[in-house]
Amino acid sequence: MRLILLGPPGAGKGTQAKRLEEAYGIAQISTGDMLRAEVKSGSELGREAKAIMERGELVPDAIVTAMLAKRVQQPDCARGFILDGFPRTVPQAESLDLMLREQKMELDHVIELKVDDAALVERIAGRFTCAKCGTGYHDRFKPTAAAGVCDVCGSTDFVRRADDKAETVGARLEAYHRQTAPLLPFYAAQGKLRQVDGMAGMDEVTRQLQAILGSPAGGI
Ligand code: AMP
Repeated sequence: MRLILLGPPGAGKGTQAKRLEEAYGIAQISTGDMLRAEVKSGSELGREAKAIMERGELVPDAIVTAMLAKRVQQPDCARGFILDGFPRTVPQAESLDLMLREQKMELDHVIELKVDDAALVERIAGRFTCAKCGTGYHDRFKPTAAAGVCDVCGSTDFVRRADDKAETVGARLEAYHRQTAPLLPFYAAQGKLRQVDGMAGMDEVTRQLQAILGSPAGGI
């Protein structure tokens, strides 16, 4: 199964993609995570991407598309994948169409997580992640059970994304509306676009996604 999760930053794409990855045994591909790993490693690509990401702008299509093309060849993508944060522009979507056609692969679903802009700043500005195991938290909506201690691995080390600052969130939302939202009519024209209510609770969103995708063999 191959699917795209679409929606603005903070809509819950990453959270839901992780759940679907586990339930359906297909790979989550987050181009944002891949770019952050490049930045962390100090690679040439990472150095180029860092300033762009900190401004809340999009990294050039050619860079991200080349990165994605390599990623989908990995063995863990054989059963399918969930694209989280890609495509983000119409040219990226066109490259993806071409890439899939060349490899005789079909895109099964494109699902929009619909969220009001007003909710996004608070959602984004409050989020943080365990530096050791990567579990995601939120100051208000999903705090750790014991203050300052990861529920899953017990680590006391947490990180916040450099671009989750309130000042950068506005630019990221603007990039979404101007460059990514045109993908909605693009995929609607292909008859592939479905929607779920991204304002609902996390479990309810998972339930709505599962209703579209069909039950995973092992349950969710
Ligand atoms: P995300 O983790 O998906 O919110 O992405 C974080 C940042 O990485 C974005 O604000 C962009 O600067 C960059 N980025 C991630 N995916 C893409 C993409 N498909 N195209 C261009 N830039 C991207």
